[in-house]
Amino acid sequence: MKVKNCYICGAPDALHYFEGRSETIRVRGMERRVDNLSGWECHVCGDGFWDPDTDSADRYGEAGDELVIAAQKMIGAEMKRIRRKLHLTQKEAVELLSGGGHNAFSRYERGELLPPKPLVLLMRLLDRHPHLLADAEVLAEGADMRGAFTYTVNNDAEALKAS
Ligand SMILES: [Zn+2]
Repeated sequence: MKVKNCYICGAPDALHYFEGRSETIRVRGMERRVDNLSGWECHVCGDGFWDPDTDSADRYGEAGDELVIAAQKMIGAEMKRIRRKLHLTQKEAVELLSGGGHNAFSRYERGELLPPKPLVLLMRLLDRHPHLLADAEVLAEGADMRGAFTYTVNNDAEALKAS
């Protein structure tokens, strides 16, 4: 067993070599397993690194990158399906739901950009309850705020009486 002093935290004989390990990377509900990884990890501070004499770091990094791209494509396709189901154009979807640049939705749907989690959640809620889109349109216009401004009722009539 190969053991070294940890040069991350300084603990003596704490850095242990491992090999043949499998790690599962998870991104937005998608998983990928990477096998036969080797490296060093500290039993005291928990930090560590892949063995630079192997391709562990490269394979782990590539698997992560591929997973992010796959997740972006999958979520992009889902965004597009739900937007079409709601009969919204990309422009309308930006104005009503996402905000951001005018081409934000187009970039999400092409898988170039991962949409923020609250937007994904909102789209999934609208997918499940499409009738809520009408409520969303009302809320977006601020029509629900009418009740919040009753204190601004103007008192011109009273003022006139007093003078
Ligand atoms: Zn350490």
